[in-house]
Amino acid sequence: MQVFKFGGASVKDANGVKNLVNVLNITGYKNTLVVVSAMGKTTNALEVVIGNYFKNKSELQSSLQEVKKFHNAILLDLFENEQHQVFKKVKNLFNELTSFLNTNKSPDYNFVYDQVIGFGELVSTTIISEYLNDVGLKNNWLDVREYIKTDNYYRSANVNWEVTQEQISNQFKKKVLNITQGFLGSDSNNFTTTLGREGSDYTAAIFAYCLNAESVTIWKDVPGVLNADPRYFENAQLINKISYREAIELAFYGASVIHPKTLQPLQRKEIPLHVKSFLNPEKKGTTVCKEVGLDPDIPCFIVKKNQVLISLSSLDFSYIVEDNISEIFKLLHLYKMKVDVIQNSAISFSVCVDNIYQNLDQLLQHLKAKFKVTCNENVSLYTIRHYNEAAIIQLEEDKEVLLKQLTQETMQVVTK
Ligand code: ADP
Ligand code: ASP
Ligand code: MG
Repeated sequence: MQVFKFGGASVKDANGVKNLVNVLNITGYKNTLVVVSAMGKTTNALEVVIGNYFKNKSELQSSLQEVKKFHNAILLDLFENEQHQVFKKVKNLFNELTSFLNTNKSPDYNFVYDQVIGFGELVSTTIISEYLNDVGLKNNWLDVREYIKTDNYYRSANVNWEVTQEQISNQFKKKVLNITQGFLGSDSNNFTTTLGREGSDYTAAIFAYCLNAESVTIWKDVPGVLNADPRYFENAQLINKISYREAIELAFYGASVIHPKTLQPLQRKEIPLHVKSFLNPEKKGTTVCKEVGLDPDIPCFIVKKNQVLISLSSLDFSYIVEDNISEIFKLLHLYKMKVDVIQNSAISFSVCVDNIYQNLDQLLQHLKAKFKVTCNENVSLYTIRHYNEAAIIQLEEDKEVLLKQLTQETMQVVTK
């Protein structure tokens, strides 16, 4: 069994879908599960739809129309015959979405988000499955929500491994080509849940774990894992091999090429993860496996933009110790802040967070009742794994450093 994951960038248009066929033909597709994300930037476009549903009803229809138009153009490119059943299937999915928006009574943003956002993956896999069938790659379309079961922590649901394992063991047919949605699951009431943005890599890992797959391959628009994001760093170098542990560290610090939750399940069963270019499927790319640390052994740079640095001190100059800190963390959890770095002294506490869920104002209000608060928005967090003097100098050049932290293997700076 091999598990493949194709992300949004790989299927951003009709040519991307045709290229996916090309990749499958080169690699072989027996005993293969293909996990696919929403096409191109569909998830972002659906986030706009959700925003309009709550705050800007007059724009709701036009934003939804954009999403339909985008997919319709791809359909027309891929299928000559407009009587093809795929047109009806996609239309039905959008009707289902509209019907949800018209009848929903829940004011819970996170719940509504998950019910709406999942249509990106449902539509993309429907189109791709039909296209594969048409060009002779007979396949089985699976609704992932019948396999991956989660709690109802909408937008960042936690997998119920026991039930998921049971569902997969009982229903999944190996030996054929299967295709399913990344990113989605469902709760015990069968409402759609999601595993967090960019969560499709994780979906591939969940299946691989439960199926005892031989390998997972995630197909990307880069040659593999590089020692830096090529969008922000010149001369990024390919990592040939990297250990699970090292890759977990990179993903944790924000190397967005692999979703951070992906690696643990693979590591537990020692299933190798290949990161390869969908444009050069014959090339080796990167292998994440047990043995090596990092090959070649070079400093790795990670940047997270648009972070928030919050600094707290007590209003009465009392120490910031366990009880205060535990209260701060409760609030960070309540407002779903992703904590990047913390630093504390006797009377101050700084934390750099990723405001993924846009809850910063509420958090600050809550904190200000207890602490003196300063907040720097739009800061960048740079991390160097396996830093050396030259790497630090290169990084700090023309940047204002707000916070700096060094451990044996990792150096982090927050800059303005
Ligand atoms: P997907 O289509 O699967 O969602 P992503 O866009 O999430 O793919 O991931 C690929 C992107 O990750 C690359 O285009 C690259 O800009 C970015 N990236 C960040 N860090 C790295 C890294 N260390 N190595 C390679 N790519 C990286
Ligand atoms: N489509 C989802 C997203 O854009 C999941 C994924 O691509 O992994 O976040
Ligand atoms: Mg992605």
